[in-house]
Amino acid sequence: MKKLEITLRKTETLKAKPDWNNLGFGRHFTDHMFVMSWNSKEGWHDAEIKPYGPFTLDPAAMVLHYSQEIFEGLKAYHGADGSVLLFRPLDNLNRLNRSAVRMCMPEIPAEEVLEALKQMVALDRAWVPQASGASLYIRPAMIATEAAVGLHPANEYLFFIICCPVGAYYAEGFKPTKIYVEDQYVRATAGGVGEAKTGGNYAASLKAFAEAKAKGCTQVLWLDAAEHKYVEEVGTSNIFFVINGELVTPPLGGTILPGITRDTVLKVAADWGIKANERRISMDEIIAAAADGSLTEAFGSGTAAVIAPVGEFLYQERSIIIGGGKTGPIAQRLFDGIQQMQRGILPDTHGWLVRAI
Ligand SMILES: *Cc1c(COP(=O)(O)O)cnc(C)c1O
Repeated sequence: MKKLEITLRKTETLKAKPDWNNLGFGRHFTDHMFVMSWNSKEGWHDAEIKPYGPFTLDPAAMVLHYSQEIFEGLKAYHGADGSVLLFRPLDNLNRLNRSAVRMCMPEIPAEEVLEALKQMVALDRAWVPQASGASLYIRPAMIATEAAVGLHPANEYLFFIICCPVGAYYAEGFKPTKIYVEDQYVRATAGGVGEAKTGGNYAASLKAFAEAKAKGCTQVLWLDAAEHKYVEEVGTSNIFFVINGELVTPPLGGTILPGITRDTVLKVAADWGIKANERRISMDEIIAAAADGSLTEAFGSGTAAVIAPVGEFLYQERSIIIGGGKTGPIAQRLFDGIQQMQRGILPDTHGWLVRAI
């Protein structure tokens, strides 16, 4: 494959910076973006770091009709030594390529795109928030741009990366959430696209989220589509339980997203001598283990929150309180430890950090 040439076109007018104390999530975007195009003749071409701005799309662009779209989410942090650090970025770009294969889209040259990403983050370094817990959220995405109404894998695509400074996920401190156990709607079925980070999965989940919210819950716990019995994921995070002091998390079987934070939790737990079991776990088991006191913690894992402790599940009108509704020691230790690894405060024993600066 020929080397990707990346053009740099800097913005002439820098945007006003947001209120750093009130960033929220995904509301402000940096000065630049990375874009490149693909067609079957030229492959990836016209790679460019350029001023952030809107795209022009044909109304017949296939993404608008058939949702051929994939995305990723990762973060950059200020390192303890003044560097700007990316956490496991190649894992995200490789996962994007696995999503691409599932959705009949072209794979990207991950290492060259990582170089472009580093260059762009360095260019927009003034947008990486300084506050503890805050970070620069990075959103790579690919869309089908071929103008055609008539279903087939598109012959033209656009890949882009945009970045937004985000505040600490827990602005008011680390607080356990109340989760609605969804036993009607499902997220993914065996043989479907559950393990791809593709837009349609998220559009399909909105109804369940809205209903969970109306019931006073912040997220949905998804169950398996066949029996509505086994736990799958929580919202857009993977799920962990602590039972008899060991971690339990559903196995990657095609219907759940292979989270990089999930993998980080499993590896860090192994480093710490905490046993982890990747196995199916049913709601019946959770109810019984919560009742007999062997289930002491539950938490979600994902890039946005890192660790999101669960204080309560609402399941068929009954409340299941976990760990007295408080954040447990393992969730707390993972939350603190992983954040320190992401910022280079703890030694990078797994080679997870990539310096942008
Ligand atoms: C992105 C995502 C996750 C978490 O993945 P990370 O790589 O840890 O951020 C989990 N579940 C779903 C459905 C997701 O979209």
